[in-house]
Amino acid sequence: MTSEAAAAARTILTRLHEVMASRANAQAKLNNVVEVIGEGLDSEVCSIYLLREGMLELFATRGLAQEAVHVTRMALGEGLVGTIAGQSETLNLAEATAHPDFSYRPETGEDKFHSFAGVPIVRRERAVGVICVQHVDPRRYEEVEIEALQTVAMVLSELITNAGLVDEEEALRLSAAQTGPEQVRGLTLVKGLGSGVAVFHQPRITIEHVMAEDTEAERQRVYLAFDKMREQIERMAAQAEFGMGGEHEEVLETYKMFAYDEGWSRRINDAIDSGLTAEAAIERVQQRTRMRMRQIDDPLLADRMHDLEDLANRLLRIVSGQLGTAASQGLRGDAILIARNLGPAELLEYDKRRLKGVILEEGSLTAHVVIVARAMGVPVLGRVRNLRGLLREGDQLLLDADQGTATIRPAQGQVEAFEARFARSRERQASYAKLRDVEPFSRDGTRITVMINAGLRDDMPNLSLTGADGVGLFRTEFQFLVSATLPARERQTRLYRDVLDSAGDKPVVFRTVDIGGDKVLPYLRHNDGEQEENPAMGWRALRVALERDGLLKVQARALLEAAAGRTLNVMFPMVSEPWEFDAAREVFESQVRFLKGQKKVLPETIRYGAMLEVPALAEMLDVLAPRLSFLSIGTNDLTQFLFAADRANPKLAERYDWLSPAILRFLKRIVTSVAGHQVDVTVCGEMGGRELEALALIGLGIRRLSITPAAVGPIKELVRRIDVSEIGEAMSGWLAAPPPNLRTELQAWAGDRGILLD
Ligand code: PEP
Ligand code: MG
Repeated sequence: MTSEAAAAARTILTRLHEVMASRANAQAKLNNVVEVIGEGLDSEVCSIYLLREGMLELFATRGLAQEAVHVTRMALGEGLVGTIAGQSETLNLAEATAHPDFSYRPETGEDKFHSFAGVPIVRRERAVGVICVQHVDPRRYEEVEIEALQTVAMVLSELITNAGLVDEEEALRLSAAQTGPEQVRGLTLVKGLGSGVAVFHQPRITIEHVMAEDTEAERQRVYLAFDKMREQIERMAAQAEFGMGGEHEEVLETYKMFAYDEGWSRRINDAIDSGLTAEAAIERVQQRTRMRMRQIDDPLLADRMHDLEDLANRLLRIVSGQLGTAASQGLRGDAILIARNLGPAELLEYDKRRLKGVILEEGSLTAHVVIVARAMGVPVLGRVRNLRGLLREGDQLLLDADQGTATIRPAQGQVEAFEARFARSRERQASYAKLRDVEPFSRDGTRITVMINAGLRDDMPNLSLTGADGVGLFRTEFQFLVSATLPARERQTRLYRDVLDSAGDKPVVFRTVDIGGDKVLPYLRHNDGEQEENPAMGWRALRVALERDGLLKVQARALLEAAAGRTLNVMFPMVSEPWEFDAAREVFESQVRFLKGQKKVLPETIRYGAMLEVPALAEMLDVLAPRLSFLSIGTNDLTQFLFAADRANPKLAERYDWLSPAILRFLKRIVTSVAGHQVDVTVCGEMGGRELEALALIGLGIRRLSITPAAVGPIKELVRRIDVSEIGEAMSGWLAAPPPNLRTELQAWAGDRGILLD
């Protein structure tokens, strides 16, 4: 806002203040408002249209025929007024009749006026009315005048809401109908279907008060909020370097640039000077930026705009004290969560029963938030660009993550088609449920062990629901992620005991905590406060556990006690060299000795395993294998290291294929290296839960998979349809002389044999 505009707006606002403070009724106030604005902007005409019973009705006018008041009505999208409300956009025309949407209303007597400017009156992101000015002279209004009009529109929004002049629910319905359906595409991160209303993880703030009582106090509030916001950003930047933030560096750089941008804070201060509250001033400046950016068609700038929206929203939340995420407010009904990115712990804060889906603007297949969502059975669509530009909070959404699409504000026909697909998908799930008690033998009689990945107590019912052979990976760090403080030993013991109890005779493989990387614990900081450049390759998993061995000792005790009298399967994440496995095992063994000394009941058997996630370990398997009971290949980490491609970086999400010869040859080598040792080999990365990938793994000689529960049915079905020796032979051929595209080759192989893949 320029200072000229601020002065114009200030004069008008001072007078509006008097009008608002008067004891007149709402209609009389509106009558006064049009006078004040008409005079202030030196316009013969000023009119206010408000939404009533689905139409924009002329509520007050200066300059048009008074008989037209409450008589002239326009539909949304009809005439200039309807266009402004329908599109939520400002019009500024030298010659109104020249506009294609112009619709002449004789009862108003408006034919002598040529110039026309109008802005929408917006409440909760929906137009609830229009204020417009008209002039005899055919001239466009100055920008300062338009800005003053926009400021007035904000004030009017408060007035008409307080006076109950419009029905907000109706406005919501109408604007949805007006905007119409929209379809967005993204990358399927977790398959599935879901419907609900859009809930923003970072909720938009509704501005309750627009006109300030005390300008100096408002200035102070914004000043403090800027300070706090800058502090937050500095902290986020520090955490990102340390690998703890979900945000990417580029975004943070832009955040920083805006947070320290003098122009931005000055414009906000100018808007406060014109008489607005801090919240209204921030929003006012944002509206103006939005309008300007709309005229520039540049994707790079659009991205920056996005960042500025984020930041303005953050500033609004700080200033208004509404700091919580949508999780802290609770979900009121079926919801689809919308976020730029999320941490796994943030996702876990949502009510599982109401969370029907997640749409991320970023996201990648193996990011932990996605793994958590998969475990929760929540479909996720990722990498949807400019989602928050197309969508408003409360909009209805149909999420079809199977097809990688989401429909915003669906039409009735779309809802019906979606319901039909949903029903079919449930039928398919039910058909998989029938496989619950069927053992997965291949056509040529090979038994494939199919287990599930889990991490929470709530995941355990999946074991009997799917009929899986056990839990091949229990991610113990999930308990740490959802706790505000380090979980005490008793709590750990209780969880592990409950998990073993619910598994009954089936085995559970507990993985010791894997924290660091994108799994951040606020209460467990780096030893010496040093920041890491590459956290995924940094101080994480077993590296933390061996250095902070108190953590591992406690966990060892908890696991040993929980498994008293039973079998304990425990494995260590991110083993890079054999000695690390030995050291971790020794921590457990020393606890065994301690418990023996205490005459405590010990596990009947303890089986130690290692995860193979670091490529270097593959070269040392001849040394390590004799000491192992089992080996679990964590392909999520392993492949990120093989390709040097950050698993959480959305830019690389589609870059490399799990079905590349390099990965498959590497895995084959692991299988060959441990053959002859008494070591079970399992694949527990996300790869094993995808049909084509599972087919390839079986072809490599993998006989044990630990996968997401939803994939158990489809993978069992796949196993029953294939001939293990046949795919083994085909795979040997492909690995010896790799075809240009192994994925299409495998697809064709499956297609030729009538093996239907989802
Ligand atoms: C893996 O890396 O493949 C794995 C299973 O562990 P996580 O995804 O928890 O890192
Ligand atoms: Mg891993």
